[in-house]
Amino acid sequence: MFKQMESTGLQDLHFWQDSTTGLQAIIAIHDTFRGPAIGGCRFISYPDTSAAITDAIRLAKGMSYKAALAGLPYGGGKSVIIKPVKLSSRTQLMHSFGRFIDSLGGRYITAMDSGTQVSDMDDIANSTAYVTCTQAMGDPSPATAQGVFEGILASAQFRFGSASLANIHIALQGLGHVGYALAKQLHAAGARLTITDIDADKVAQAVLEFNASAVAAHDIYDVEADIFCPCGLGAILSSDTIGRLKCAIVAGSANNQLADPQQGDLLYRRNILYAPDYLINAGGLIFVALKHNGQSNSAIRQKVAQIHTSLSELYQHADAEQQSTSTIADIRAEALIQQARLAASQAT
Ligand code: NAD
Repeated sequence: MFKQMESTGLQDLHFWQDSTTGLQAIIAIHDTFRGPAIGGCRFISYPDTSAAITDAIRLAKGMSYKAALAGLPYGGGKSVIIKPVKLSSRTQLMHSFGRFIDSLGGRYITAMDSGTQVSDMDDIANSTAYVTCTQAMGDPSPATAQGVFEGILASAQFRFGSASLANIHIALQGLGHVGYALAKQLHAAGARLTITDIDADKVAQAVLEFNASAVAAHDIYDVEADIFCPCGLGAILSSDTIGRLKCAIVAGSANNQLADPQQGDLLYRRNILYAPDYLINAGGLIFVALKHNGQSNSAIRQKVAQIHTSLSELYQHADAEQQSTSTIADIRAEALIQQARLAASQAT
C-alpha cells in the first residue's frame, strides 16, 4: 500500500469502520499544501477493499490536478464508502461518515460523486461543517456546463481561428445534468448538434428543443463533426474510439475521458485538439469550493469563465513544446503542486 501511495504522491490515507451503522469508509488525501483537500464521496459496491483503496487514491490525485489548474487554494482528496450488502439506515451511515470527516479537522472537505446525493450531503452536514453540495448550496452542474462552454469557445478559437460557434457541428454524448444544459448553450450560440443518450426521452426532448439530429449511442464516434463533446461516461477515449473520430476537437465534461494516459498522445498524433478533462470540467469544483467559502454567484461565474484563458494558455504551451495537451496539463499541475510543497518546506 505504501508503494501505491508513494507512486501517486499521496500524503495520507484514512480508514473508518462503524459496526453500528455498517459504515466502512476510506478517505484519501493526495495533497494539502495548496489548501484543504477537496473532492467527492463515492457510495458504490467494490469487489474488495483493495479496489476501493485504489479508486480513492487515483481519484484523489485527479482532484489535486483539477484544483491546481483551476487556481483554487485547495488540494485534492476523495472518499469512498463501501456500499454495504444490507443497509439499515442511510441517514445514520452518513452521520457516521460525517464524524469520520470531522475527525480530520478540516484537512478534507467532501462533495457529491457517484452514488451520493444532495440529501446525503445534508445528512453529513449534521456531523461536520466540512461538506459541500448541500441543498442550501445548490447544484454544481450548471457551473460545470458554463466552464465546458467556455472551454469549447477557447478550443474553437485556437483550432479554427474564431470563437464563433455559428454552424459549427458538435457531436454530443450524454444529455444528463451537464450535457443538457450545455446543449442549450451551444444551440443558442448557433451550433448544429448531433446528440446521443441511452435515455430515449432525453434524446427526443433535445431533438425537439435544439433541432438536433440523433444517432444511436454506439454511432456517436463515427459522426463527422467539428467537435466531439463527451458528457456521459469516463474512459471512452480508447485506441478504438479515437481511431473512429472524425473531428478536429474533443472537449466535454466527462471525468477521466482517456482510457489510459497514452490516449492523449494518440489524439495528438491524429491532430485532434484535446481539452484535458480535469481542466475543462473544473466549473463544478470551482462552484463547490467557492460556495463553501461563502462567495457570491457572480464571483463564481467570473472564476468559471477563466477556464477559457487557462485552456488557451495550455494550448499555446503544448503547441510550443510540440507535445500533447494532456502531457502538458499533467506537467503544469504537477509543477504547481510541487511549488506549494517547496514553499511549505521553506517556510518551516
Ligand atoms: P448524469 O448522470 O446526469 O448524465 C450522464 C448522462 O449520460 C445520462 O443522461 C446518461 O443516460 C448518459 N449516458 C450514460 N451512458 C451513456 C452512453 N453509453 N452513451 C450515451 N449516453 C450515456 O451526469 P452529469 O452530472 O451530467 O455528468 C456527466 C459527466 O460529467 C460525468 O462523467 C461526470 O463525472 C462529469 N462531471 C460532472 C460534473 C457535474 O457538475 N455534474 C462535474 C465534473 C465532471
